[in-house]
Amino acid sequence: MDFTLTSEQEAFRASVRAWLQANMPKEWDRRVMAHSDVPRPDAYEFLRQWQRKLYEAGFIGLTWPTDAGGRGLTFMEEMIAQQEMALAKAPPVLNILGVGMAGPTIIAYGTEEQKRRYPPKILSCEEIWCQGYSEPNAGSDLASLQTRAVRDGDGFIVNGQKVWTSLAHIADYMMLLARTDPDVPRHKGITYFLLDMKTPGVTVKPLRQITGDAEFNEVFFDNVRIPDSQVLGGVNNGWAVGLTTLMYERLALGFGLQVRLRIAIDNLIELARRMEKEGRQVTQDPVMRQKIAQLWIDTESLRLTGARAVTKLLRGELPGAEASTGKLVWVETHQKIQELAMELEGPYAQLAHGSERAIESGVWQYTFLRSRANSIEGGTTEIQKNIIAERVLGLPKG
Ligand SMILES: Cc1cc2nc3c(=O)[nH]c(=O)nc-3n(C[C@H](O)[C@H](O)[C@H](O)COP(=O)(O)OP(=O)(O)OC[C@H]3O[C@@H](n4cnc5c(N)ncnc54)[C@H](O)[C@@H]3O)c2cc1C
Repeated sequence: MDFTLTSEQEAFRASVRAWLQANMPKEWDRRVMAHSDVPRPDAYEFLRQWQRKLYEAGFIGLTWPTDAGGRGLTFMEEMIAQQEMALAKAPPVLNILGVGMAGPTIIAYGTEEQKRRYPPKILSCEEIWCQGYSEPNAGSDLASLQTRAVRDGDGFIVNGQKVWTSLAHIADYMMLLARTDPDVPRHKGITYFLLDMKTPGVTVKPLRQITGDAEFNEVFFDNVRIPDSQVLGGVNNGWAVGLTTLMYERLALGFGLQVRLRIAIDNLIELARRMEKEGRQVTQDPVMRQKIAQLWIDTESLRLTGARAVTKLLRGELPGAEASTGKLVWVETHQKIQELAMELEGPYAQLAHGSERAIESGVWQYTFLRSRANSIEGGTTEIQKNIIAERVLGLPKG
């Protein structure tokens, strides 16, 4: 990749930096909140307002077309903006599933009416989205999903259940995959719906995680009626539409999580500078220095691999191996950063999150526990390895 920026791109970088300097919210406590990669319930309202500000300033949805509320810019500007967000330790985007997945999929497959109606409200955070893919018997093997949508006049009646649905408790809409034809091969009888979560018959039940937060949910559908106008990309074409969403998920992971990773490693280095072990600063310990340096190198390699993916996108090609390996390497690096934070804290690592005596209020304990889910969410590590083995290395199917 050519890293030399044009004068327009330099000016764009300067405008993002200046805006961040002037607008970073004072109440955003860098040390306590900034390196948590997932929005926490007590920050929802704050993050809603932050995303609204980003939207009004034109720093979100950079690659989206202007009539969809975006800026019509390239992935180069997106990368520049993300780098500046990382440097400033900016708060995360609350409507991450809408911005990263629902919006781009609607722009790709939506009717003119759908493209006008949904994307701008996704960017402004007026409407939050969740992803209704996984079910009790369909996770890695998504095509075995059983939620049924049966034709009823000019719409469908949906019955079934989703599980692990992040943010469903605050979501206005769901990207819903449901089976519309049980008599054809599994991948062919699925339809992608844009479900209004306030429709009668939708019940959301929170599931508590190891962190103590209930960030995801079970969602039940009891005779939920969805009109034809809420089908995205055609009846029984849901597999293709759903895979497009997953492709955008990988892209969003590549961009967004890289920023959170950079913030986490920078915070880890700050933590190491403040901690003492056996009478000397942790950063003086040669073994610890090696471990931290390796994680910094891994973070930097991931950023450069992301830049290679951007080069392909700018050339009009789709990222291949870069996108497949990104999630895997991100997970490993992020989990190692969290584990090293626990090692640095030593016995203090055993104090609960929120405890008065805990270092930085125990935020590292929280993020360490939360990071265990990274190798499951968005496709497990084993499934990522299968994809790399089969599609990148050309090995036979296991
Ligand atoms: C924090 C979090 C948030 C989530 N948010 C959402 C969300 O918003 N929306 C949503 O739809 N889903 C969400 N999920 C669900 C997630 O996508 C699934 O958990 C994931 O796809 C795995 O599916 P499963 O849990 O059914 O496990 P399974 O698919 O049953 O897998 C169980 C184990 O078997 C392994 N395995 C399965 N198949 C193979 C294979 N072919 N080869 C090798 N090993 C295999 C897996 O790697 C795993 O270790 C979330 C999950 C988490 C943890």
